[in-house]
This record gives sequence, structure tokens and C-alpha cells, in this order.
Amino acid sequence: MSSADTPDKSPLTLVRLNAVANDGASPKGKPGCRKCGDCPGGGEDCNGKKVTTITSMLPSPDHVLSTLEKDGSRRWLFPRLAKGRYWNRRRWFGYALIAFFVILPHLRYAGKPPLLLDIPARQLIVMGNTFLPTDTVLLAFGMLGVFLTIMAATTLTGRVWCGWACPQTVYMEFLFRPIDRFFEGTWGHGGKPRRLVTGVLAVLRFATYFVLAMALAHTFLSYFVGTDRLAMWIRSTPIKHPLAFFVMTATTVAMLFDFLFFREQLCLIACPYGRFQSVMLDRKSLIVGYDVVRGEPRGRLKKETSDTKGDCVDCKLCVAVCPTGIDIRDGLQMECINCTQCIDACDSVMDKIGKPRGLIRYSSQDGLTGKPSSKMRPRMLLYPTLICVVASAFFYVLLTKSTFDASLLRGAGNPYTSIAIGRVQNSLKMRLVNRSGEPQQYTLGITSPEGVSLEVMDPSQLQMQPGDSRLIPLSVAFPASLTGQGGRFEATVTVTDGVGRRKDLNIPLLGPRQ
Ligand code: SF4
Ligand code: SF4
Repeated sequence: MSSADTPDKSPLTLVRLNAVANDGASPKGKPGCRKCGDCPGGGEDCNGKKVTTITSMLPSPDHVLSTLEKDGSRRWLFPRLAKGRYWNRRRWFGYALIAFFVILPHLRYAGKPPLLLDIPARQLIVMGNTFLPTDTVLLAFGMLGVFLTIMAATTLTGRVWCGWACPQTVYMEFLFRPIDRFFEGTWGHGGKPRRLVTGVLAVLRFATYFVLAMALAHTFLSYFVGTDRLAMWIRSTPIKHPLAFFVMTATTVAMLFDFLFFREQLCLIACPYGRFQSVMLDRKSLIVGYDVVRGEPRGRLKKETSDTKGDCVDCKLCVAVCPTGIDIRDGLQMECINCTQCIDACDSVMDKIGKPRGLIRYSSQDGLTGKPSSKMRPRMLLYPTLICVVASAFFYVLLTKSTFDASLLRGAGNPYTSIAIGRVQNSLKMRLVNRSGEPQQYTLGITSPEGVSLEVMDPSQLQMQPGDSRLIPLSVAFPASLTGQGGRFEATVTVTDGVGRRKDLNIPLLGPRQ
């Protein structure tokens, strides 16, 4: 007995039955079904076959999402490949980006990687400049600059980032999708698989994915720990660096999940950037759009009616190539990642039927409706002005920043200790950071008042490499008579670097009340 005859009562099955009933097809899809959709609830279809119609649930509309079947299950996309001018440009740009991403951590600038978010040392290195968690002003200006640049770029160029440079698109379209097409037998064409990838083929495909995902995960990790440390870890057992091994494994698993399974869902569901489009785009922003005026009314190409029809021959090639499964002819949609595949597909159709290219093209909402579409508008003045202000503030703070940071903290424990008759000692700690691009030998001293002596517990710690940050224990001894009735007095500690730049730090020293 078929499942249609004995319906499973699980929610998923109920939804599926509902969808079948609303499709108008008999549960078995027998030949002869007119798909009229008039099958009576609990009755029989026109083939005399019993039909179960669930009336307590809302009928499913045509397609709620481009990646969802009417019964709520995942609609897997197998986009065809449209090779055209944009595809070629995007492909070379994508491979250049991948090469840049892989090579960058191996380069050196001022002896350090050009970009390193060194989590163990809690510092960010950008082109020889070291930023520490205490650089809050610089980090705030930097983040503000990045956000403003994203907003300005999106307002002007729409989702060019998504289609051309986003790692998700670049890896999916130029690394992982070609692997799929190779194993599915659609190499160079895309579209529905020509063979089932099972058995040995499935294992080989997974192994290729795994190796690529692991290589990318190692590259990703090198931006956080540096290539030297990573190479050392690769040669040693994971037991010696369990956290890094865990991060690498988790990144590999996340990549496998994303590129094997999640795919376009990341852009459609998880990525917040697509959601922000409605506030960042305006009618003059660059988009990939369909020229409704020129294309409609769409219809199959027939010689006798070609004058009255629009240029769209309704071949649906633009839909077949779309990696997010949408129909660009329905207008601007959040799912569109501006990958330009529909432009290339439609251009090839226009070439074949002898019509000018550009029925689908880069334009703006105003441009597509024939309105003047000048790029200039108030926000295109406002954003660059704000970016200039923030960038100026950032570089002013950066260029006037001291070549070393020094601050004094009190040590833990008693506020003071008696070390001899009439003499007391305070324990201190100095946070010293070498921000210069060279190794430095620092010297500490205490200038006032008379009779105070300072001792560095480990003087070798004052020899520091660029970017080093240390907490150096000190002790200060002084005559107990200096503390007076208040039990305290101010002293000045001086820090001098190898080229004579000096900082004075005041610190209250504590002792017995006199
Ligand atoms: S590819 Fe061009 S002609 Fe074909 S359906 Fe899409 S818009 Fe119409
Ligand atoms: S509609 Fe066109 S540009 Fe947008 S995602 Fe689909 S194929 Fe790419």
C-alpha cells in the first residue's frame, strides 16, 4: 500500500499532502489527471482515486521563497553557467582575491605580517602599526570609518561587494561549485546533474571539499596567529596547541557545512548585509535590473507578432542561471546578490535573436524607468565628507601617538612594607608597551624627592621588541619620614627609551603616618 493511501500524521507529511492536494494532482500523479485542483476533500479525484485533503491548514501559495518547495522542503539549486563578459571579469577577480588572501599572511612589512590580529598577544598589526586594546579612540575611529565606507559604497554601487568580492560568493562560485560540476558531469555548463554522485564519486568529492576547506581554515587561522607559529604547530602534535587545533577544526567543519549544505541560504537567511539594503540603497544606486519598459510584454518569439511584443522571449535562462533562484524580472529583490549571471545569460539570448544587449543590465531603479539617474545626491556628499573627517581624526591620533606607552599600577598586597628602621618599601607594576617599529632598551629612574630609590626586579624585561607589551614589577624604597601626617607623598618615575624620548609618571607612595 502506498504512503498516499495511508497518510502519515506527522506535521511534515501533512504539509506535503496539503501541497499535493493543492497542486491538483492525484496523490499518485496518475496519467489522466487534469490537475484542475477541484479534488473534493475526503472524496475522489477524476481518476476515481481517493484523495486526502487537509483543510485545517492554509493552502501553500506558489513559491514563498526561491529556495523552498511548495511543501516547505528545501529546493536545491543547480544554476546553469552563463559565460559572458561579466563572468570572465568576475572569475579572474575572484581568483586574484583568493591568491591575495592566501599570500598576504606570508608577506612581511617591517618584520611583521601586513595584517595580523594577534589574539594571544592581544594586538592588531596593520602595516607595521601595532594597535592594542587600550587604543580605544583609534579603534573607534577605525570602525566608524569602515561602517561609513560600507554605507557610501553600497549607496553608490549597490551590492557589488556581494557579487564580486564576498568570500562566500567567491569560494562558492569559483572553488566549490566547479568541483560539483566536475563530479556531476556538467563541467562548463552547470544545471541539473547528469549523474548521481554516489559511492566512490561521493567520497572523492567530499575528500576534495575537505582538503580545500582545511587549507582555507589554516589560511584563516594564520591571520590570528601568524604563519611562523602556524607552521610550528602543523609540525607538532595537536596536544601541544589544543585551542588552535579546535579553532582550525571548527572552521573546517563550518566551511564544509556552509559550502556542502547551507550554500545560498547564508546570503538569504544569515547575512545581515542583504537585510540592510533597504536602508542603504536608494533609487539611484547601482543594481542589476531588468528593463521592464523594453522587455514587456514578454512572450515566445514569433515573427508575426514580434513588433507588438517586448524584447523578453520568456526563455527563463536568467532564472536558470541565478544562484539564489530568483526571477530578476520580478523587480529588485533582497535575494539578488548582483552576481551578473543573468546579465550574461540574457545578453547571449539577445545576441542570438539580434536584439541589442542590456535587457538585464547594471543600472538604477530610476535608470530602468527612464528617469534621469545622476549619481549625485545629498548622501553622496554627506558620506565622503564624514569619511574625510573620521579619516583625518584617525590619522591625527595615529601620527601623534607616542612611540611607547607607560603606566604605573600598585602591586597586590600590603600598601607598604618596612624594610629597615625608618625605611619603607612600596611594590608597583609598570605596564610598558613598545609601539615603535624597532627594538628598544628602556631606562627607569625616579627624580623626586631626595632619598627615594627605585629597583626593577628583572632589568632584562626593559629590553623590548617592537609591539611587546609587559607588566614589569618594581619596588620603591624611601625614608618613612617622607610620608608625613597624611601617610603618603607624590613621587615622579621617569621612563626613557633608547633614543632619549621620555615620559614622567606621578605615583602616590604610601607609608606610616608621622
Ligand atoms: S534571459 Fe532575457 S529574454 Fe530570457 S527570460 Fe530572461 S529576460 Fe527574458
Ligand atoms: S538576479 Fe541576476 S544578479 Fe541577482 S543573484 Fe540572480 S543571477 Fe545574480
